[in-house]
Amino acid sequence: MKLERNCPKRSGRANSPPTIAAVDSFRDLADGNSEYVANFSNASLSAIPRRHLAVVTCMDCRIDPLAIFGFEVGDIHVMRNAGARITPDMLRSLIKSVNQLEVDRIAIMHHTDCGAAKVDLPGLRSKVLAATGSDPTDVEFHLIGDPAAALDADIEAVRTCPYLPVGTAVAGFIYDVETGVLQPHDSTFVG
Ligand SMILES: [Zn+2]
Repeated sequence: MKLERNCPKRSGRANSPPTIAAVDSFRDLADGNSEYVANFSNASLSAIPRRHLAVVTCMDCRIDPLAIFGFEVGDIHVMRNAGARITPDMLRSLIKSVNQLEVDRIAIMHHTDCGAAKVDLPGLRSKVLAATGSDPTDVEFHLIGDPAAALDADIEAVRTCPYLPVGTAVAGFIYDVETGVLQPHDSTFVG
């Protein structure tokens, strides 16, 4: 399995790069953490997820994986990227999760109104080019065309990964961001 390479180093270009920000730009993080630490009670949690479950889902800010299932911190692994796609790097995390951290169930949770299904590749490339002066021709965005086919492909990518043991359970779900309802995907099966 060949892993994706990192983002290429920027070459000569007109626009300014992202800035290293002053800490004040992130003050809300430190403030929030102060409150969190005041009530912190997770010091004795195990790194082994209690439910032996990994959930792959999208980075969409409307998705609260623990709340959706009624779970708590320490229950599951949550792995997120744009679109909840099974990329080489997502497989890297799943391989560790299953072989090193006692996970034996993998739930792939796509969702309605996903940004990965709302943008086309030429449009996205144009936006990046306009904003940065660099055309991301070498970035695989894993966009979603047909949502059902994309979830089928992601389930299959996990099911056929040679580094996940036979008996690892794989299931697909669609989360509705407008109702909170979780629907099992039609082609879900146990591998
Ligand atoms: Zn999404």
